[in-house]
Amino acid sequence: MKIGVPREVKNHEYRVAITPAGVHELASRGHEVYIETGAGRGSAFEDEAYTVAGARVLNSADEVWAVADLVLKVKEPVAEEYSRMREGQVLFTYLHLAASKECTDALLSSGITSIAYETVTGRDGSLPLLAPMSEVAGRLAPQAGAYHLMRNGGGRGVLMGGVPGTPPANVVVIGAGVAGGNSIAIAHGMRAEVTVLDLNIARLREIDAQYKGQVRTIMSNRLEVEKAVREADLVIGAVLVPGAKAPTLVSNDLVAQMKPGSVLVDIAIDQGGCFADSRPTTHADPTYRVHESVFYCVANMPGAVPYTSTVALTNATLPYVVSLAEHGWREAVAMDQGLASGLSTHGGVLLSASVAAAHGYAA
Ligand code: NAD
Repeated sequence: MKIGVPREVKNHEYRVAITPAGVHELASRGHEVYIETGAGRGSAFEDEAYTVAGARVLNSADEVWAVADLVLKVKEPVAEEYSRMREGQVLFTYLHLAASKECTDALLSSGITSIAYETVTGRDGSLPLLAPMSEVAGRLAPQAGAYHLMRNGGGRGVLMGGVPGTPPANVVVIGAGVAGGNSIAIAHGMRAEVTVLDLNIARLREIDAQYKGQVRTIMSNRLEVEKAVREADLVIGAVLVPGAKAPTLVSNDLVAQMKPGSVLVDIAIDQGGCFADSRPTTHADPTYRVHESVFYCVANMPGAVPYTSTVALTNATLPYVVSLAEHGWREAVAMDQGLASGLSTHGGVLLSASVAAAHGYAA
């Protein structure tokens, strides 16, 4: 199959949909991979690495889209890409169509078959193509928090691990799923004193066993969240209620009672945030103050580490890409119900009930 990988054009998007290792895997199976020049540069992969791996580098996005049966991307197509899509072609990428009627309409009018990363499900109902980005954001949160806890970062001047004879930072993680679990691992690894709150007792049991009691686990409820947050140097919000806006767990009043120079990182900001005063920020200007605390609410945290994010994403997508390339999309989705749940549009027909509901269309 002919597989095309254009350079991402969305503002400040440095990821790319395939690594040279992914190209090598596809090429060794006899597929032809076409990549736009410079597509990997933002993720520290130069054209030469792709050529060595067996790809053909093309000069323009137009050429890549024109030749490809299967187009791999990271983000949903933007306006300049709409005219390049065509019937009979398959697009595999993050789509988030419920958030964009314009993009939904463009996919429908092109007739392209689109499959959304974010709705592909695993056998256990997990979201295997969303998980890598939660892992990245989760691991980045203590790093961002540690930086902002430093005096020059606006914080109270606490070192995460302290030194012998001093107390370490008190880190509170709310939500112990994929993102929160990764935040715990890094904060604990930095020798902070970590407390985690979740509603899921089974998850708390796992963490208790994993860290042999060195991470304090608390059932999440209003009183316990308030107690933990009041004592915290760093609070990491990592909750998710599937399909809903994040619940507000930290009020403005509670922030007023926190230690001066404490830091709050709201990973859940892409779902509206779990602190009352959270509003989305960017990597260029990531923080602002509320009372005497520092808020960090970057909505696309993985964008700070495009190399890691690209490798993590393509590790997760590659088995699906191989299946699509080897079998064609019809057989691939027939063999894997989880991949089928990613199907969004085909031949001008909307196949996702949730996207249809979001835009008032029939599916
Ligand atoms: P997940 O489903 O794996 O985990 C969410 C956890 O929150 C679950 O364990 C759940 O029990 C817990 N939870 C729900 N309500 C709670 C409450 N009231 N108190 C305590 N815990 C509660 O989800 P995830 O993949 O870890 O994602 C977490 C959030 O991170 C999501 O909002 C996701 O969109 C976001 N995210 C943000 C970025 C970013 O760049 N900012 C990147 C990736 C993911």
